[in-house]
Amino acid sequence: MRVDILGVPVDRLTIDQTVQRVTELVGAGRPARVITLNPEYLYRGVTDDKALLELVHRADLVTADGEGIVWAGRVAGKPFPERVTGIDLMLALVQQAAQEGWRVFLLGAAPGVAEEAAENLRRQYPGLQVAGTYHGYFKQDEETAVAERVREAEPQVLFAALGAPKQERWIDQYIESIGPVVAMGVGGSLDVIAGRVTRAPRWMQSLRVEWLGRLVMEPSRWRRILVLPRFAWLVQRYYRLARRNR
Ligand code: UDP
Repeated sequence: MRVDILGVPVDRLTIDQTVQRVTELVGAGRPARVITLNPEYLYRGVTDDKALLELVHRADLVTADGEGIVWAGRVAGKPFPERVTGIDLMLALVQQAAQEGWRVFLLGAAPGVAEEAAENLRRQYPGLQVAGTYHGYFKQDEETAVAERVREAEPQVLFAALGAPKQERWIDQYIESIGPVVAMGVGGSLDVIAGRVTRAPRWMQSLRVEWLGRLVMEPSRWRRILVLPRFAWLVQRYYRLARRNR
């Protein structure tokens, strides 16, 4: 079941159901794209860069990341069962990978971070097979070689932490050449897993103000927050018009 948020389809699934769907995609043995959609990405797509929306339409699975998307689901009259963020989904998938014997590839973040993240994940999820790691600061003319490296490692799941929307563009461009892999962008998750950045405390997450915590810890994010009221305005207008035209 999907809901239309500002013209793009977003899946209405719990995190467990999302893991189930990814398991089916891995079983299908073909390239598959997963996008955890947040308001900043969608706002940019709608107002400025339509190609970003194309990527969402092409995705096999789109999750409601960010409170702004969850709120938009309520405005649309089709609430999401819960928020499915990049890091939460990644950790749930890593657990599944350890159980199922899938090989995972960690791509992105500063040199050394993906290796540290891999070490922590292996410790936390015994039996996890990390097919490979590579940092995210390669030049444009190295992109093909990086994709080749991932292909040779033959992972079932690829986590790309290059920041949005770079990671979504990269995945879209190279996934067919990599082959049967489920690929998803995970933003700053490798930094968190490696212990380089701390996530906002749980009480903040449950009060739905994780964004506020991130703002306090990384003040440079304030520009992104400014998008939220504009996004909210677009959503209100979109559904008011939709109701009027019904
Ligand atoms: N990053 C990268 N290559 C780049 C730019 C960024 O690997 O060319 C990494 C960066 O080190 C960080 C992640 O991408 O680990 C972006 O984190 P952020 O929390 O900003 O993700 P976003 O919220 O933008 O998706």
